[in-house]
Amino acid sequence: MIFQDPGFSLPELPAAAEALREEVRGFLDVELKAGSFEPCCNAWMDGHEPEFSRKLARRGWIGMTWPRKYGGQERSVFENFVVNEELLAVGAPVAAHWAGVRQTGPLLMRFGNDAIKDFFLARMARAEIFFSIGLSEPDAGSDLAQVRTRARRIDGGWVINGRKIWSSGAHRADFMVVFCRTGAEGEADRRAGFSQLIVDLKAPGITIRPIYMMSGAHHFNETIFDDVFVADDRLIGKPGEGWSQVVSELGYERSGPERFMSIFPLLAGLVRIAAADPELRRIVALGQLTARLWTLRRMSIALLALLAKGESPEVEAALVKDLGTRFERETVEIVRGLAPPRSSDEPASEFDVLLAKCMLAAPAFTLRGGTNEILRNVIARSLGLR
Ligand SMILES: Cc1cc2nc3c(=O)[nH]c(=O)nc-3n(C[C@H](O)[C@H](O)[C@H](O)COP(=O)(O)OP(=O)(O)OC[C@H]3O[C@@H](n4cnc5c(N)ncnc54)[C@H](O)[C@@H]3O)c2cc1C
Repeated sequence: MIFQDPGFSLPELPAAAEALREEVRGFLDVELKAGSFEPCCNAWMDGHEPEFSRKLARRGWIGMTWPRKYGGQERSVFENFVVNEELLAVGAPVAAHWAGVRQTGPLLMRFGNDAIKDFFLARMARAEIFFSIGLSEPDAGSDLAQVRTRARRIDGGWVINGRKIWSSGAHRADFMVVFCRTGAEGEADRRAGFSQLIVDLKAPGITIRPIYMMSGAHHFNETIFDDVFVADDRLIGKPGEGWSQVVSELGYERSGPERFMSIFPLLAGLVRIAAADPELRRIVALGQLTARLWTLRRMSIALLALLAKGESPEVEAALVKDLGTRFERETVEIVRGLAPPRSSDEPASEFDVLLAKCMLAAPAFTLRGGTNEILRNVIARSLGLR
């Protein structure tokens, strides 16, 4: 059992994807020279710039694998991967659309009714509307079966009461996919009786309160639902099927390049420092980190191929996220140890600022999207160990 082969056969990126890479690099070069954004680490969470998202949308780089009738370009998942990795590599501000396009789009495509698909997908692809994810609650993060937010059936729709927490970007998003209880409590199967509803975040009865990060940034929120009405046609899939729908999102949520490239601009900064001052310990560390990065990237591409075939590689996604986010956290620590020393009266360089911000963001890397302990439980179960 322990020698079972995870699904990491290694596809090459097709030539069309590599050709697109040049186009994306050209675009980013122009944007960087024009100073249209400030590169940052963790840009897929911290770099919220709707206008930049719209620039990408105008080039067809948002929702690019989706059908044309839903605003997509019908390009391959590999082309999408290349666009995403180039954006992450330069720390471009993609947070406004990132999580919604990554997992809500595919969720709606797969389970949404026609009205949902027609209304939401093309608007998402044009970066006109943005989504937030409403899973976690104060006592239900790792264990979503503890979710208490409830939607009660009424004529023509549902009424939601409850509280979500850690809702990234909810204060700036237009809609939230709310995972809530619609069935009876205490069912024999603790995963039964959940549903997913699309909630307009401007609807009456919603209060969004900030939760500040230790950097002082406002990224998170507590989102409170007090008798919030949601029309029938905003139910995703069928009532009671919410659990399996959420699980189907996880492969998308956990396997992408953002799970090992949040710190890429910092790593690139160290490469520039090592080029100017090639201390042996820097060169050795960069060699080791680059080898890990290459391995993770190949794992992520292999996983993408499985997702594209319609498979649900939950275990492989857990492996990528566990190894990838640990790589990210360790990279920050290693780079910190190798950064050029600076006395307190010297002004901070761009690299110093990048490093300081990365250090404050790093603790979240192994938590968001499912903690590493939970991911290891997933892996252990597949080995018959739990
Ligand atoms: C930057 C960031 C962004 C986020 N964005 C969102 C978002 O947009 N929407 C959203 O819904 N949520 C979001 N989250 C929440 C995130 O998904 C949860 O924090 C995460 O799933 C853990 O849940 P929790 O915080 O309730 O911790 P808990 O579940 O209370 O866990 C606490 C500790 O116990 C450990 N633990 C719990 N159960 C087990 C177990 N069975 N076995 C072993 N160890 C266990 C955990 O690993 C953790 O170390 C975000 C979190 C972060 C950090």
